[in-house]
Amino acid sequence: MANNRQHQTLLWAILAGAVAGIICGWLFGEQMQAVAWLGDLFLDILKMVILPLIIAAVISGIGSLGDVRKLGQLGGLTVGYYALTTAAAVLMGLILVNIIQPGSGIETLGSKLPENIAEEPAGFTDIVRTLVNPNLVAAAADLDLLPIIIFCLLLGAALTTVGERGRPVLQFFDGLNDAMMKLVMWIMMIAPVGVFALIAGKFGEAGGGAAFYAEVKAVGWYVVTIILGLTLHFLLLTGVAAMLAGRAFDYVRAQGRALVTAFATASSSGTLPITMECAHEAGVNERAVRFVLPLGATINMDGTALYEAVAVMFIAQAYGIELGLLEQMLVFVTATLAAIGAAGIPQAGLVTMVIVLTAVNLPLEGIGLLLAVDWFLDRLRTTVNVWGDSVGAAVVGG
Ligand code: ASP
Repeated sequence: MANNRQHQTLLWAILAGAVAGIICGWLFGEQMQAVAWLGDLFLDILKMVILPLIIAAVISGIGSLGDVRKLGQLGGLTVGYYALTTAAAVLMGLILVNIIQPGSGIETLGSKLPENIAEEPAGFTDIVRTLVNPNLVAAAADLDLLPIIIFCLLLGAALTTVGERGRPVLQFFDGLNDAMMKLVMWIMMIAPVGVFALIAGKFGEAGGGAAFYAEVKAVGWYVVTIILGLTLHFLLLTGVAAMLAGRAFDYVRAQGRALVTAFATASSSGTLPITMECAHEAGVNERAVRFVLPLGATINMDGTALYEAVAVMFIAQAYGIELGLLEQMLVFVTATLAAIGAAGIPQAGLVTMVIVLTAVNLPLEGIGLLLAVDWFLDRLRTTVNVWGDSVGAAVVGG
């Protein structure tokens, strides 16, 4: 009970940090860049625990299944949930963008392709190849999580098949997982300050409220469409949680610390330790916490999928290029792929959007139109990404 109260207090403190960050960043603009280092420090501390946490969690999670055949069942349910919810998100985005038509009347002159975006898109086979990395140490050093998760999945499964000799190894990872969770709980104590600094620093970098407002106004309906779509999808996911797992508003509250952190960091992977700790505290089935959440943070991105679809259609409308039903179906498929391929780091979705634009022959410079407001929309879509993972854990484990 005391624990529960402590979590509630912490949630309020983190929320207060976020609100204060928005207000200070809005009012004081560039001056707030002075606190950005504190935010970066908080993010680094979170990133520090990701690797040992997911290694311990995935291996012990799979090990606890007891029988490697159960993995197929768990995996099937998880992938089914990911696929259905991601498809629903893209569909929602497409419907809204067709109704609202945010791109018509937008000035495209002078829009340039940002330097960090490659013109050569990753194809389907490239995405499949990212599942494996021949050099696990390099993957770990780059925090390239997907190949690590795949390896740990296989190792966990193998350990369950070697009987007695595998047991102490699994116990080791089980113990490590518990200790990592404890560490995350300690880290969460500094989250209010970290969240404040991340948000205020970012608003400062964007030049404060007035400058941000001017950027938003330039592409106003695009921002409205994305926010509306993300809100509706958030509610849809909440409905799914209520129907399939019997958890809804209490669960939003339980995951609140993770959701605010997702908003502050714009990184599903960076938030993962907190997402796992919150789900663990909320009593979600441990196997789901240890399996569904790490995998979800890297491949299940509902918010990103919705955003990719809306953004690409926005670019088409701005350039006055009509996309028919067939082309929109192509957007549907490629936006889903682009979301799966995006890493759980800030603005990864902007980079993988090249896949969708190329598929329907749209000018890549269109990405330049989205740039000014992307840092903000990224935070919103990351929050929905993390909520999608959390609901997934409750549904699969429920
Ligand atoms: N920042 C997002 C995430 O980490 C990915 C993206 O859409 O850019 O979930």
